[in-house]
Amino acid sequence: MVDRSTRMAVIGAGPVGLAVAKALLQHGIAYEQLEADDDLGGNWYHGVYETAHIISSRKTTEYADFPMPDNYPDFPSAQQMLDYLASYAAAFKLRPHIQFRTKVMMCLPLADGRWEVELAGGEKRVYKGVIVCNGHHWDKRYPDYAGRFTGEYIHSKDYKHPQQLVNKRVLVIGGGNSACDLAAEAARVGLSCDISIRRGYWFLPKTVFGVPLPEMVPGWVPVRAQRLLLRIILRVVVGRYENYGLPKPDHRIFEAHPTLNSEILHYVKHGRIRPRPAVDRFEGRHVVFADGTSDEFDMVVCATGFHLSFPFLPPGLVPVKGSNALLYGGCTLPDYKNLYVVGTAQVRYGFGPLMTPAAALICQLINLQDQMELPIGLVLKESGAKPPTTHLLDPHRAMRQMKFAKYTLPLLLRKERKLRKRLRPAAAAVLAKDPRTVQPDPELNVF
Ligand SMILES: Cc1cc2nc3c(=O)[nH]c(=O)nc-3n(C[C@H](O)[C@H](O)[C@H](O)COP(=O)(O)OP(=O)(O)OC[C@H]3O[C@@H](n4cnc5c(N)ncnc54)[C@H](O)[C@@H]3O)c2cc1C
Repeated sequence: MVDRSTRMAVIGAGPVGLAVAKALLQHGIAYEQLEADDDLGGNWYHGVYETAHIISSRKTTEYADFPMPDNYPDFPSAQQMLDYLASYAAAFKLRPHIQFRTKVMMCLPLADGRWEVELAGGEKRVYKGVIVCNGHHWDKRYPDYAGRFTGEYIHSKDYKHPQQLVNKRVLVIGGGNSACDLAAEAARVGLSCDISIRRGYWFLPKTVFGVPLPEMVPGWVPVRAQRLLLRIILRVVVGRYENYGLPKPDHRIFEAHPTLNSEILHYVKHGRIRPRPAVDRFEGRHVVFADGTSDEFDMVVCATGFHLSFPFLPPGLVPVKGSNALLYGGCTLPDYKNLYVVGTAQVRYGFGPLMTPAAALICQLINLQDQMELPIGLVLKESGAKPPTTHLLDPHRAMRQMKFAKYTLPLLLRKERKLRKRLRPAAAAVLAKDPRTVQPDPELNVF
């Protein structure tokens, strides 16, 4: 039997798992990468529609240490993203470490700090630890309305190609990026397209002055100034959302994940997308809206987001509040050693620039954990670290925090030695319990 007790298991070979794998290799940390699908790329392999282009721009999405090809446009297609990820894996020789068609079913902490990993098919392996990179855009979240819609009822995740919309009266529910992308597709090929938006969103153009919006404002500009600048630009370029029949935004820019879409307002003004208020109920093929109006549709697309979930961990082991995973240092738990949960935050722009330094920090945490007796998450907690209050991540702030953490993390070693005597019994008591029997906090893991 293969002895895996000195290797980490990386779950998932999407963009996050690949960045982590590359850092592990470069730091000389032994690992195996377990991927349920038959190829790498995650969402960019199996999870987006064929006509998708990134919403974040090329420069704010490419890995910090691996630029996208010069001939790529500012907003590469899904296929270009996949090719890019494949070339990243080739450049850093990641493929030989990936076990495809290997789905992780359960991970359980062992008393000595290692982890038992059970695969589909029943095989059980013991790894030194687990790095969870399973993504957060797959567990579909549906809205809950009275009545039943008897036409085609799908989630945005089920939308794969425009043929699905041709000649249909489509209602898209939601105001986020997927909702707007899909509404624009339906405006082009569908018979009609309505979009039901229950709150005011900031619909931001993808480019301003010929530059992708995410690249326009340098990271050092304070968020307040960024907001002001964007509001001025929007007032000139867009005007008031009410002039498009859309509700006025009910929050400040960046307080919700921004919707970047240059087509929605265009198609609204061309009468190809009709804004509607919240859905009140379904009556067969009819949808009744909150303002009392109703219409008949052939297809309803719920672009209503995703749950953050970890089906291969005991329920509640990772506490989740809404969409926010309550992790210390962005990836650890105070109760268990050698578990790192990565990529749960919703970055305002793309994944790449942050993932490169984040993956290096995870390697630093793993090396520090090797010199500690207590879980590093517990040491972080005792040192005053707090779990995030929101899943939305300001990339510039996160970058600054990571630069700082690189130099301050080694100080945790001294702290841990001081804490050992006091916290050893409590840490051992946690491990003595079977995590499958622990009742999750009823306040948490509610969506
Ligand atoms: C329509 C759409 C548009 C998007 N546009 C952008 C964009 O413009 N910019 C951007 O930065 N992001 C965008 N995203 C977000 C996208 O999810 C990220 O770009 C990126 O794919 C996240 O990487 P990940 O590795 O965390 O997750 P994923 O890409 O979801 O990869 C997770 C991997 O883990 C594997 N896995 C899951 N569970 C298991 C298991 N139990 N055992 C083994 N393997 C498992 C999956 O098969 C998958 O390969 C978009 C998402 C969608 C849906």
